[in-house]
Amino acid sequence: MVSTDDADPREELAALVGSLRRTVAWHARAGAYGARAAVEVEVEAPRAPSEAPPAPGGRLSLAQIREELGDCQRCKLASTRNKIVFGNGSETAPLMFVGEAPGADEDRIGDPFVGRAGELLDKMIEAMGWTRQTVYVANTLKCRPPGNRNPEADETAACQPFLFRQIETIAPRVIVTLGRPAANLLLGNNAPISALRGQFHQFRGIRLMPTFHPAYLLRDPSKKREAWSDLKLVIAELERLGVQPPNPPRG
Ligand code: SF4
Repeated sequence: MVSTDDADPREELAALVGSLRRTVAWHARAGAYGARAAVEVEVEAPRAPSEAPPAPGGRLSLAQIREELGDCQRCKLASTRNKIVFGNGSETAPLMFVGEAPGADEDRIGDPFVGRAGELLDKMIEAMGWTRQTVYVANTLKCRPPGNRNPEADETAACQPFLFRQIETIAPRVIVTLGRPAANLLLGNNAPISALRGQFHQFRGIRLMPTFHPAYLLRDPSKKREAWSDLKLVIAELERLGVQPPNPPRG
């Protein structure tokens, strides 16, 4: 942290305590019970005059993360986007889907997964017994790359912290990544989707299942069988974790 002589020490201390709380809360939710005990012994730190009240558990709320994102100009996609596509769904969703980047429809409307790929994702979610309102859907990038070109490394690096904060806040029990780029980003590797799908991985202690992107399934419907087999593993894993979907999943 950069410190200057004229910085307000209360702001610095509040920022440090806020960061520590979020880190400890994260480890507590990930199963570090010593950390959970630390969270329960709350220490009241002085709050900087400009700081919004924290959400329960000391983490940022989705609204706070969206506020921090603001009219983001952190990468060059800001100059070509129409709307920031932050993500939508339940802040407490046990199941989260992460795609790559907004397309033309999403850029126009401001919501993730609309259009034909979005309709297919809806069907996949409903077949699992869930709804768009009870899961959370986001992308690795919040602005559309022009012409749907592949995101560049600096763009992904600039946007990634916001997705990671969303995941920390939602704390889903299972994440499903859609397509290779989302899986590669969260798993920190460069493996093809064919080598990743069909088995669980971990992202910061959260079970993660990579599967095909709905847009790819529209181009190659023969892959739907494999995608459904991935989603059936997710259904079984949620059941094992004691998480019941709002509706019965399809066989
Ligand atoms: S892609 Fe992400 S980092 Fe880049 S301008 Fe959009 S919101 Fe900001």
